Amino acid sequence: SQPQAVQLNDVVKKTLPLVGAQVRKTFKRFVLELDPNLPLIEGYPTKLEQVVANLVVNATHAVRPENQSNLLISTRRMESPQGVILQVHDDGHGIPPELREKIFEPFFTTRREKGGTGLGLSVSYRLVNDHNGVIFPVSRPGVGTCFAMVLPLHLDRC
Ligand code: ADP
Repeated sequence: SQPQAVQLNDVVKKTLPLVGAQVRKTFKRFVLELDPNLPLIEGYPTKLEQVVANLVVNATHAVRPENQSNLLISTRRMESPQGVILQVHDDGHGIPPELREKIFEPFFTTRREKGGTGLGLSVSYRLVNDHNGVIFPVSRPGVGTCFAMVLPLHLDRC
């Protein structure tokens, strides 16, 4: 299918009902910060919904409900270079530096015995790549993880 003009805020809003129950069950506090001036990007809404859902579900897996955890999802316009950025921020167990590259490999999981497939991030990586974007974690073990997805603007707006 052809890529179309996409408002990433709408992608986030469409994804939330799919993961909402799990988010409410897992996090004490959930903050949504959507940039009201977010420019359009070019791409595939359903692919991006898949990425957002995966990042949010991963965040729920990284925390213990009894720890009164926080989840922040935000979108922001980026000026230089022009683009949009989505961040999914948890205060969970974090990612050890030596696993930072490995987590994007197909079938890599630290959740094997909990039914983890290790496919979420490898698929997400490919879907973001289909948008000429990048996805990466900023993480500190024991403190938390912020996954960022950065996407270039729609050609007409550049
Ligand atoms: P799965 O969730 O099935 O393990 P993924 O590809 O989605 O597969 O994730 C791979 C691994 O990346 C996870 O097993 C986990 O070790 C790590 N990971 C992903 N998201 C987070 C996060 N928010 N916090 C800590 N670790 C994470």
